[in-house]
Amino acid sequence: MTDGAIQRFAGAGGARIYQIPVRAFPSMSAHTYVVIDGGYAALIDTGSGVAESNTDLDSGMAAIRDQYGEQVSWEMLSRIIITHGHIDHCGGLGHVRARSAAPAAAHRLDLAAVRDHAAFMAAHLEATASFLRWTGVAEGQIGQLGRLFGAVGQIAPGGEVATLIDDGDLLDGRFAVIHTPGHCAGMVCLRMGDVLFCADHLLATTNPRLTPAHLEPHNGLGLYLASLDRVAAEPGIRLGLAGHEAPIGDIYARIDAIRESHMGRLAQIHEACRAPRTILDLAAQIYPEMRHPSQLLLALQAVAARVEYLEQRGALAASDTGAMTRYRAA
Ligand SMILES: [Zn+2]
Ligand SMILES: [Zn+2]
Repeated sequence: MTDGAIQRFAGAGGARIYQIPVRAFPSMSAHTYVVIDGGYAALIDTGSGVAESNTDLDSGMAAIRDQYGEQVSWEMLSRIIITHGHIDHCGGLGHVRARSAAPAAAHRLDLAAVRDHAAFMAAHLEATASFLRWTGVAEGQIGQLGRLFGAVGQIAPGGEVATLIDDGDLLDGRFAVIHTPGHCAGMVCLRMGDVLFCADHLLATTNPRLTPAHLEPHNGLGLYLASLDRVAAEPGIRLGLAGHEAPIGDIYARIDAIRESHMGRLAQIHEACRAPRTILDLAAQIYPEMRHPSQLLLALQAVAARVEYLEQRGALAASDTGAMTRYRAA
C-alpha cells in the first residue's frame, strides 16, 4: 500500500495537486497525479496496468477522498492526460477507462502506443532487431533481447484517446502543453501556473533515458537537448513534478546538470572511438556494471543516441562491417 506516500502540492489559483506513487514494476515506481481545480479534476498518467499499479492507483484515489476530504471519484473525473506512450505511464489507461468515461488526451506521435501497446510493440519487433544488429549484438542474442522489448507491451490493454494535444495548446484552459521529444516521441510536459508536470523529460537525480532515432523516429539526443532548451526558456517555474523520483525544486539547475552530463558522455564516447568501436563495445566500456540483459538494452539505447548525435555533427565516421557498424573519431 502506498497511501502514506501520497504528497499534496499547492497549484495556482487554489488548485490542489496530489501525487500518487504506484508500483509500475517490481523494481520501479512511477507517479500519477490528480489535479483538482474547482469542479474540475484531471488524472495525469495511469501507471503501468499491472495489478500492483492498479491497486495503488485505486487506493490513492480513495485516500485523496478519505484522508484529504476532496470530493473526487472516478465518476467525476473530467480528464485523463497521458504524458507519453511508455507503459509505466499509459499502461493503466484500460484500468482507468473501466472506471471513468473522462476523455483521454495524448500527443499524436504516441497515439498508437497509448491505444494498443501490445500491437505497437509487436509492430516494433523488426525495428528492434535491426537496431540491435546495427549496435553489434550477435545474431543469436537478438531474439532474446528483442523479446524483452516486446514483453513489456503484453501487460496492458490500452485505451482510446479522444483529444490529440500538441505544443502550444492550452488543454482545458489549464495546462499549457510543451512538446519535448527525445525520451519519447510524443512526450509532453504540462505547465499549470508555476508548476511543471515534466513526466520523464526531467528527473530529480537520474538522467532520463534517451530513445535513439535509429530505434524510433522523432527521438534522439539532438531533439532531447532542444527540448531541454525549450523548457529552460519557460520563465518562472517553481516546481517540477516528474514521472519518477522526487519533486524538482530548481528545474533550471537540473536542466544545466543534465546537459553537462551529456556533454561529458559525448566526450567520453568520442575519446573511446580513437579505435573503431561498435555501439555494443562502447556500452560495455561505459557501463561496465551492466549485469542483466534489460540493463544492456538501456545502455545500448543511451550510447546509440549519443553516437547518432556525434555522427550527425561530423565528429564520428561510420564504417559498415556486415550488418553492424563501427564508429571512429573523425
Ligand atoms: Zn518514459
Ligand atoms: Zn517513466
